[in-house]
Amino acid sequence: MGIVVQKYGGSSVADADGIKRVAQRIVNTKKQGHEVVVVVSAMGDTTDDLRDLAEQVTPLPPPRELDMLLTAGERISMALLAMAVSSLGHEAQSFTGSQAGVITDSVHGKAKIIDITPGRIQSAIDEGHVAIVAGFQGVSQDTKDVTTLGRGASDTTAVALAAALGAEVCEIYTDVAGVFTADPRIVPAARKLDRVSHEEMLEMAASGAKILHLRCVEYARRYDVPIHVRTSFDTIEGTWVLPDTAEEGDTVEQAIIAGVAHDRSEAKITVVGVPDKVGEAARIFEVLAASEVNIDMVVQNVSAAATARTDISFTLPREDGQVAMAALAKIQDEVGYDKLLFDDRVGKVSLIGAGMRSHPGITAKFFAALAAAGVNIEMISTSEIRISVIVDEGQIDTAVRATHTAFDLDADEVEAVVYGGTGR
Ligand code: ADP
Ligand code: ASP
Ligand code: MG
Repeated sequence: MGIVVQKYGGSSVADADGIKRVAQRIVNTKKQGHEVVVVVSAMGDTTDDLRDLAEQVTPLPPPRELDMLLTAGERISMALLAMAVSSLGHEAQSFTGSQAGVITDSVHGKAKIIDITPGRIQSAIDEGHVAIVAGFQGVSQDTKDVTTLGRGASDTTAVALAAALGAEVCEIYTDVAGVFTADPRIVPAARKLDRVSHEEMLEMAASGAKILHLRCVEYARRYDVPIHVRTSFDTIEGTWVLPDTAEEGDTVEQAIIAGVAHDRSEAKITVVGVPDKVGEAARIFEVLAASEVNIDMVVQNVSAAATARTDISFTLPREDGQVAMAALAKIQDEVGYDKLLFDDRVGKVSLIGAGMRSHPGITAKFFAALAAAGVNIEMISTSEIRISVIVDEGQIDTAVRATHTAFDLDADEVEAVVYGGTGR
């Protein structure tokens, strides 16, 4: 039997009992004859608590030091988990990201993995030990400083390690039983998907379904790593994330819609009164790119004939809002726009499904459901298998539930259980 990589999220190791429960699970897997490599997140909401603490000390903590602080969270859980496994009579060793060979670029707070050299992990499992690795962290190839890979990125550590070790599966253990048709915290009638394609999972993750980190899905697709998302609070089967949901010999047609996702992490900036001239939009987005701000949706209104001026609105990660506003303020005279508006009371709701390609009328049905629920659409964007809208933050839950119901996704009997976590 081969290597199994198991990733346990913060809610699974929230307290000492959780750590002991997870240790027992690891030992059970070992007893079945597998070599086990574990990736663990910080306990409960530790990462958020550490962030809050830093912000109490200074509103803009230096990124290097913030990474140094946040990586401490995973050090705590990995050491405690190794102790718990040892107490059950199995050798276990914990490793920081750097010790595990997670080599990254040097962008603090959102570093990308550029290589994995898991020599020490391989040696540990060769000796029959359980290797426990701190998720979410690595070491910069250039500066040798400790880096973090972005919020929720322990999933990516796990899949990247699974790929580097040639593991047979990467199990992602969390506080819900798998990937559902919507966040069970908002839609109790959400249904668990038995399997979901990389393509649909990528769109769901990119649209804010934080059950899986986007880059972990990209990794899984590129290196062909099967992911099994399941709960650590029960032994039931979860959701398999696999290349294609259609199995050979399948007679039943694939579902048209995979699910509804929502995202509360975006903000909207409107550049008001931009002169309607060639090159203005390019200039605006060039300065944003130079500031490393990722843009999501963009809308440019038709210019008013009388003024020959137009408004350009776009969405971006809320946390990049101040950087973006400052960058745009610097080019006000050069571009000649009137003013900037910043709105962080927005949310994004997305409908995802590969069947959209071949079924007309999905957009109309989506918008009709929102209208019937009294939800106003502020912006729209689409891909081949996704439709997203920006709505008022206060209407996200209503919009998600109305869409879920309109597309007949509600389960007859509630099957979604949220076992733990605070949803933070
Ligand atoms: P962990 O700490 O284990 O990494 P996360 O909080 O990052 O857990 O992700 C699990 C949470 O993702 C669930 O508790 C749930 O609220 C949320 N979630 C959002 N969309 C979905 C979905 N489509 N299916 C399941 N869970 C979802
Ligand atoms: N502890 C980190 C976070 O809260 C990483 C993770 O949980 O995946 O973002
Ligand atoms: Mg997570």
